[in-house]
Amino acid sequence: MLSLQAATVRFGKRTALDAVDLEVADHRIVCVLGPSGSGKSTLLRAVAGLQPMDGGRVLLAGQDQSGVPVHRRGLGLMFQDHQLFPHRDVGANVAFGLRMHGTGRAETERRVRELLDLVGLPGAERRAVAALSGGEQQRVALARALAPRPKLLMLDEPLGQLDRSLRERLVVELRTLFQELGTTVLAVTHDQGEAFALADRVVVMRDGRIAQEGTPLDVWQRPASAFVARFLGFDN
Ligand code: ATP
Ligand code: MG
Repeated sequence: MLSLQAATVRFGKRTALDAVDLEVADHRIVCVLGPSGSGKSTLLRAVAGLQPMDGGRVLLAGQDQSGVPVHRRGLGLMFQDHQLFPHRDVGANVAFGLRMHGTGRAETERRVRELLDLVGLPGAERRAVAALSGGEQQRVALARALAPRPKLLMLDEPLGQLDRSLRERLVVELRTLFQELGTTVLAVTHDQGEAFALADRVVVMRDGRIAQEGTPLDVWQRPASAFVARFLGFDN
């Protein structure tokens, strides 16, 4: 289980994360929604250990993560500024996390093939990353994050650059995959439809705080404030 306790991040006078408390139970898929600048990416970066905190704690499986570097937290990460290795081909990028975990060559090749099929890039192993479109790169980054089958997967706008039909197909396949693998997922999206289709629970952020947290149905039927209702588009 992931737990944030009074997690606080400040940038100068701006409080990007304001004493946030959040519990994510194992095997849950949680989507974080909220306006631009509300602290969604900061929340994910703090959990990953990529963003130092000015207060509070992050616990993974009950263990305080302060001082634990990102590569020791056992997370799958895909961030907005997804950095693929531009000089390696697609296959090498996806295989990166597997080789680090000591997976053998044949098994690695099989898993890479499976993952590329899943994200709609079958047979793309030998393609050059630099020659891919933004959306294709995003799908490679997603495959790479999924490759080591992390217990906790954190995705920041994983499907943001993809067209609607591909997004809708991927959301369904990803949900099934996460359920099969028992992956706990914390995903930021600005697409409410995507959040409601993917998530067991939805977190709505505003100004570095959690404005509401609940099942998609709860949040949809009983927005906790005028802000949430407005954000969900109920007043127009
Ligand atoms: P978006 O939907 O646009 O990605 P977000 O909800 O992910 O927005 P964050 O990136 O978490 O928002 O930013 C939260 C606040 O912290 C914003 O006001 C942002 O300007 C500020 N901020 C984020 N990163 C930094 C940084 N490295 N230095 C200074 N301010 C930052
Ligand atoms: Mg962001």
